Amino acid sequence: MKTLPPADCAIKTTCPYCGVGCGILATRDEAGTVSVAGDPEHPANFGRLCSKGSALGETIDLDGRMLFPEIGGKCASWDQALDLVAGKFRDAIAEHGPDSVAFYVSGQILTEDYYVANKLMKGFIGSANIDTNSRLCMASSVAGHRRAFGSDTVPGSYEDLESTDLLVLVGSNLAWCHPVLYQRIVAAKEVRPGMKVVVVDPRRTMTADFADLHLAIAPDGDAALFAGLLAYLDKTDTIDHEYVTAHCNGFDEAVAAASALSPADVSAQTGLDGDELDAFYRLFAASEKSVTLYSQGVNQSSCGTDKVNAIINCHLATGRIGKPGMGPFSVTGQPNAMGGREVGGLANMLAGHMEIERADHREMVQRFWQSPVIAGQPGLKAVDLFEAVADGRIKALWIMATNPVDSLPDADRVEAAIKTCPFVVVSDVLRETDTVRHAHVALPSSAWGEKDGTVTNSERRISRQRRFLPLPGEVKPDWWQLAAVGKRMGYGLAFDYPDAAAIFREHAALSAFENNGTRDFDIGAYAGIDSREFDSLPPFQWPQAAGAQKEDTRFFANGNFYTEDRKARFVPVAPEVPRRVSGDWPLVLNSGRVRDHWHTMTRTGKSPRLSTHIAEPFAELHPEDALEIGVRDADLVRVSNPQGEIILRSLVSPRQRKGSVFVPMHWTDQFASAARVDTLVPGITDPISGQPASKNAGVRAERFGVKLYGFAVCVEKPILDKKTDYWAIARSRAGWRVEFAHGTEIEDIAGWATRLAGLDDSGDEDTAQRLAYHDARYGQHRIAWFDGARLLAAVFVSHGPVAVSRSWAAEQLASEHADAQARFRVVAGRPANDRPDPGAIVCSCFSVGVNDIADAVVRQGCTSVDAIGKRLKAGSNCGSCRAEIRGIIDEHRVLAAE
Ligand code: SF4
Repeated sequence: MKTLPPADCAIKTTCPYCGVGCGILATRDEAGTVSVAGDPEHPANFGRLCSKGSALGETIDLDGRMLFPEIGGKCASWDQALDLVAGKFRDAIAEHGPDSVAFYVSGQILTEDYYVANKLMKGFIGSANIDTNSRLCMASSVAGHRRAFGSDTVPGSYEDLESTDLLVLVGSNLAWCHPVLYQRIVAAKEVRPGMKVVVVDPRRTMTADFADLHLAIAPDGDAALFAGLLAYLDKTDTIDHEYVTAHCNGFDEAVAAASALSPADVSAQTGLDGDELDAFYRLFAASEKSVTLYSQGVNQSSCGTDKVNAIINCHLATGRIGKPGMGPFSVTGQPNAMGGREVGGLANMLAGHMEIERADHREMVQRFWQSPVIAGQPGLKAVDLFEAVADGRIKALWIMATNPVDSLPDADRVEAAIKTCPFVVVSDVLRETDTVRHAHVALPSSAWGEKDGTVTNSERRISRQRRFLPLPGEVKPDWWQLAAVGKRMGYGLAFDYPDAAAIFREHAALSAFENNGTRDFDIGAYAGIDSREFDSLPPFQWPQAAGAQKEDTRFFANGNFYTEDRKARFVPVAPEVPRRVSGDWPLVLNSGRVRDHWHTMTRTGKSPRLSTHIAEPFAELHPEDALEIGVRDADLVRVSNPQGEIILRSLVSPRQRKGSVFVPMHWTDQFASAARVDTLVPGITDPISGQPASKNAGVRAERFGVKLYGFAVCVEKPILDKKTDYWAIARSRAGWRVEFAHGTEIEDIAGWATRLAGLDDSGDEDTAQRLAYHDARYGQHRIAWFDGARLLAAVFVSHGPVAVSRSWAAEQLASEHADAQARFRVVAGRPANDRPDPGAIVCSCFSVGVNDIADAVVRQGCTSVDAIGKRLKAGSNCGSCRAEIRGIIDEHRVLAAE
């Protein structure tokens, strides 16, 4: 392992969260404290970072880390653990064949990790049973690209999003899910107000707030929307016939399929009226420079591949592809989904963007690797892979950097399958996740800051993730673990890598191997770089073939697709919206991200700052649906279907589409009693891409009746017993905050609250000063414990939702309460007059709440986001909250004018 950079030296690395791939300057001081800033020279972000990226320094402590290999929950040496893993995989293969083992990896691992995993499985074990959680994120885009282009190519660059005249965002809450890209677009629109933005999304998200046109489309109506657009473009002769004739096949068939839908059919499938459709179609036809950007709302569908091709068809038909400001643009959720695609980390791909179905590609890869075998056919895609675990076909499974017990559809069934698998290895950074707890062997992996290698962002830009922290305990990189097992399985030389640079060199060489312009992915220019050059490698966009000009890296402006005749293929799309609601399950369940959390919160859940924005899982309901089922805002609501049920806080909002309910994807059993949304998502997949339909499940929502509601803040992690029917915990600056509810009355409230606060065994209960207020008539109980001026815990219980400012109460753990008045104020749950309640936190960088912003609008006349920034600093750092600030200004502007 190479030496660490000296303290106080800013290291250029890359954010480990979303597919924007922002460059970061990370600095570690002598005491080990890490600060991060945006890298002004990185072409993805030019110095910007969102709230998640800005808070990375808060997520790298060793609390909860897995530091040693474990066998059966007990510490073991690396030799013992690796011998066992290699032996079990070897035995399963010998007895049941290569397809009896599988790897399930992740878009979080680096390209070098991915490369070694894929090589071991496909080239040496001889199976293609390696799939990745990126299957859940962008597999439909991959399939759509390959159908149309003959290759998995994103044709454009981020610049195109800024220089276009019309940006259509489909199924993408960019403001929350790709915040820095969103900020780049907002800035471009401020400079060129003539640039139009259309948002196609069933919900009125924060992204929709800055759109010129929001189309609140019916779930899964996207293919019909774009089929209707193709028919409109044909009817109005907005076709680039020259481009289509020279570079495409299948135009007539695609237009015929699209034209078979009447305008009434399109309206019925999209839920949009004629005027809305007309407005969008006219705008698209009139805007030569147009980009259609899409993400999970398109991909996570049983017709996701058709949606992608319906979008691409419109860009091919108008020749708007691969030119500045034009093209279809898929953005990936994960930081290295694209790197995984490059190395063939999906079960149906080969390394170097080669095709597993092609014998010549298989032969080429095998010859390059000099491997004994090569997988002869596609392996099991994620959902099928866990089906095979469930029915016993998979005897040994290695899960790496992902949490399928929470993130795969039909999650309870996945958990049951993992429990019955004869041998499960999990490589992770944390010791306690919902998946690690089922591992026979757990292997400690390096985390962000300890990893060294490359990632590829959504615009095909490869950037370095650099190590600036020591590897703690016996932690090892994922590629090292895989290579060590490969060696133990008898494949010595092929896995004898001294460092990540050697793997990158081999990956680059394979991309160029007998390529000669026949494959899109070619980074042969880097096949010969040495370890020093790798260390200083600046971000670059592929392709970068050896000896080629490093100019425009866009694809397809002049055709030259990667099909046999080098022409693109129009794909006829005959949309039919899958309906999964019924009388018993009348609501469509839609899932997705919130602004400040990531995946299953294993990292963001560590940051108090990120937990202030939304600290509890919720179900967003339309007011009419809520009224119908008797649910009020902040009630608890049960969302269920035949697969299971989850309990969440209700958020009643007109932003939601009537007939739909939105639930965030992040909460696991580590953070809430029952909020794993994927327990309700059926294992239905797109027949071409294998991507699960995560945004269209039929469910029922109903009020979850409780006798007692509660909220607490505690210095120590709260202890929840089985009697607590609902709970959700989050970190705060000086401890924890917890929401809870009970279906039955509690007889000894004080005793129960003491146990919750962890004070009965600690001895603190004997010495702590307890203040309490009880009103049995209204079921109100408020108890607080102090150690001198320091608040240890405060518990608030009520028959209705507890009316205490959460952010204020959480801050009391970090405040001094020197006099009796201050302590009684905590029990009363009321801020002092001179310290008004900030309300729910909107700007997590500067802890500015909704009440602060509303006050600045109404009393101080701040009516722009910049004015709020000047007054309160809110929105002036990472900018992730600017859309919300704009919404609060709009809501209160009328009051300000009065
Ligand atoms: Fe990280 Fe935010 Fe940039 Fe995504 S937008 S890469 S989460 S800083």
